[in-house]
Amino acid sequence: MSDVYAGGCACGAIRYEISGEPIFQNHCQCLDCQHKSGTGHGSYMTFPRAGVKLNGKATHWDIVADSGNPKTRAFCPTCGSPVYITFSAMPENFAIHAASLDDPSRFKPHAVTYTMRGHAWDTLNPALTMFEKMPG
Ligand SMILES: [Zn+2]
Ligand SMILES: [Zn+2]
Repeated sequence: MSDVYAGGCACGAIRYEISGEPIFQNHCQCLDCQHKSGTGHGSYMTFPRAGVKLNGKATHWDIVADSGNPKTRAFCPTCGSPVYITFSAMPENFAIHAASLDDPSRFKPHAVTYTMRGHAWDTLNPALTMFEKMPG
């Protein structure tokens, strides 16, 4: 059994502990991830929801993603850090922002999603699997 994945927002008001292994690890270059990150992409680890323990109260913001799927972004009302994302169409999944981990070196991305939205100045590892949109 591996160590739990622990992390949270920058100020520590929101904390999570996740047991289990990530099922998807990606950079996403969609417009929404650009807007909310302030740069060219977001970086995510998606886990089965069942292993997630949450502490603290996040502020939620519901949006419709580039893919057309609704998702809920959770961020800290105090420090503003984006921490996690949930998906009403896939309630069994729970995605965290990779750098919210206490040890972000545990993030091992294997894919880039929404490369069709990517910018020339946002260069990602070309060895990763590239998806023009979100894989089904
Ligand atoms: Zn915070
Ligand atoms: Zn995205």
